[in-house]
Amino acid sequence: MFSPLDLGFTTLSNRVMMGSMHTGLEEVDKTGERIAAFYGARAKGGVSLIVTGGVSPNLEGGTGMPGEEAGFGRLDNDAAIPTHRKVTDAVHKYDSKILLQILHTGRYSFAPNLVAPSPIQAPISPHKPREMSEKDIEHTIADFANCAKRAQKAGYDGVEIMGSEGYLINQFLAVRTNQRDDDWGGSFANRIKFPLQIVEKTRQIVGKNFIIMFRLSMIDLVEGGSSWPEVVALAKKLEKAGVTLLNTGIGWHEARVPTIAQAAPRTAWAWVTKAMKQEVSIPVIACNRFNMPEQIEDVLAAGDADMVSMARPFLADADFVAKSRQGNAETINTCIACNQACLDHIFSMKTCSCLVNPRACHETIYAMGKTSNPQNIAVVGAGPAGMSMAAEAADWGHRVTLFEASDRLGGQLNIARNIPGKNEFDETVRYFTNRLHRANVETKLGKFVSADELSKGYDHVVLATGVLPRSPDIEGIDHPKVMTYLDALTGAKPVGKRVAIIGAGGIGFDTAEFLLHDPATQNMSIPAFQTKWGIDQNWGTDEAGEKAGLAARPSPPMPSRQIYLLQRGDKFGRTLGKTTGWIHKAEMKLGGVKMLGNVTYEKIDAQGLYIRVEDAAQVLEVDTIVICAGQVSNDALRKKLENNGVMVHLIGGADEAGELDAKRAILQGMKLAGAIA
Ligand code: FAD
Ligand code: SF4
Repeated sequence: MFSPLDLGFTTLSNRVMMGSMHTGLEEVDKTGERIAAFYGARAKGGVSLIVTGGVSPNLEGGTGMPGEEAGFGRLDNDAAIPTHRKVTDAVHKYDSKILLQILHTGRYSFAPNLVAPSPIQAPISPHKPREMSEKDIEHTIADFANCAKRAQKAGYDGVEIMGSEGYLINQFLAVRTNQRDDDWGGSFANRIKFPLQIVEKTRQIVGKNFIIMFRLSMIDLVEGGSSWPEVVALAKKLEKAGVTLLNTGIGWHEARVPTIAQAAPRTAWAWVTKAMKQEVSIPVIACNRFNMPEQIEDVLAAGDADMVSMARPFLADADFVAKSRQGNAETINTCIACNQACLDHIFSMKTCSCLVNPRACHETIYAMGKTSNPQNIAVVGAGPAGMSMAAEAADWGHRVTLFEASDRLGGQLNIARNIPGKNEFDETVRYFTNRLHRANVETKLGKFVSADELSKGYDHVVLATGVLPRSPDIEGIDHPKVMTYLDALTGAKPVGKRVAIIGAGGIGFDTAEFLLHDPATQNMSIPAFQTKWGIDQNWGTDEAGEKAGLAARPSPPMPSRQIYLLQRGDKFGRTLGKTTGWIHKAEMKLGGVKMLGNVTYEKIDAQGLYIRVEDAAQVLEVDTIVICAGQVSNDALRKKLENNGVMVHLIGGADEAGELDAKRAILQGMKLAGAIA
């Protein structure tokens, strides 16, 4: 991981790269100060190579997001160069290099004036694209090359040409999206002309000593995508055309296979890069679902890749590489692949951040410092809100005592971690445990603290006492077959074979997934993941692969339980993540879960759950009814403390139970610590 990578005309200081991420700052940061602070912090943290979020080479190639004209998102004239210069200067203060990613969205743009090789609307796009004329194509090739030249003027060490994830270049390569009958479509030789000419023209204009990285879609995972022999043939031609480094792209955005979400096991895609590495002689970069140094080391040591790229883990921790180098991997704030504050924000037109590190992309807003007025602070509850508050307040220089009623830190994260894929939360608890220890927070586990104990000796008391399950008003709710999600998820009560779940919010979906899975397979193996999602396990080794990495899916095994997931409204999955909701819905389908909306609950008795669905009465003959009907704040200590004249603050679930998640809990903890400072 720490051996340099010699590229001939320049050397990278180690084998870890920060991959491209659109952060939303491109649209809001008119001066480039925030973007420079963001990338500068990652360079300081030791990463050897950074790739910026995608920058469009022309107007049509942009995302179409409001504010794009702000200055960073498009580089089609020299006026934006000074803004970019701030970024390259910030990175070059350290032993780190930075590439500008040139990305043309093609039919994935949100704007109505979008273009593509053929006028075929993407299943995830709001508009149908206009077919590019030959003149448009030639112009766009020139725009890519000119954009690279401007990047060079702005001080970048190179460019990454975005040829994957289903964006314009991918759209030219695949018959799925390229149905032209002129020189740019039809045969493979015609379809690859567009990327090859971009690389050739770019190399001509930037000269020899400038990095050109190409992000090649090595497995499209969509019908009508490239075959493996085509991917290899293109890679070899790109190498000849002057590409310095080959980066791996996995799946188009419209693919219905999880590529980076928690449903994909760690290092799930390294085998694709390994197959490519045997075909070309330029360095090849692996990516997707790396989040801890051991995995990077393993893949590099095995010779399966020359470098590893991670994106989201650098939102979670800017110092990932420095901490690894110092042998302090246990202090890394690990990306848990939730997408909640990064991709979900971007797809909701919000600035990106990170659930476990709310400072990401807000470096200049939530700056750290030391207080001149240290206080005695008691924090009650060691869920994400309490852990975040206690660690931050101690870092500001306060004396902090953290009380936790149970015998471990983490609060509900210790429950959430039982859901398939969510055991990544163990990393968050490990991170905070180490951070609290290092910050000298006095932690009192197994201490259910009372208002009287908190009423003397503290300048501030912070209630981070979380939530309690809400119990709906249904006749028979006290029947022995009824339990809360906590009972079901902790194994406190046995769950039968026929189950009704009341409430289809995030916890309802999670409970269904938990009840369907075999506890022995909490960490799904990569082959099992491939079988489940229909990924061709021979991809990269045989000549088949006509279907771009997709294989026929076997019929799902008989579910271990019959589950009904019920809700009062009609729109299922409204509260699920923007970029991951489809995965949870697909899991329900695979598990044969019956989802019923517009349900009215009438009563519960030995026979089961009596419901009405749009006026039709029915009885669900189930053994167990699990209540996932929301939560209420656990703020029982508040009144008494206030009556005792104590300065009380509420954060996380104790403050507001509605729409609660760990993202808000950690953010509130961090903000309150800053406010007391
Ligand atoms: P909690 O985590 O509830 O912590 C409160 C703590 O206070 C507890 O440890 C409790 O023991 C302690 N306490 C209470 N009273 C006292 C007292 N008097 N003295 C001492 N200690 C006390 N969120 C996400 O963002 N993403 C997810 O994917 C996700 N999945 C989830 C899945 C499940 C199954 C569940 C149950 C939750 C999930 N959540 C998820 C929600 C997330 O876990 C909560 O939003 C978050 O834990 C709330 O944080 P908190 O610190 O406010 O409270
Ligand atoms: Fe990773 Fe979640 Fe942070 Fe995104 S929000 S960087 S997925 S931990």
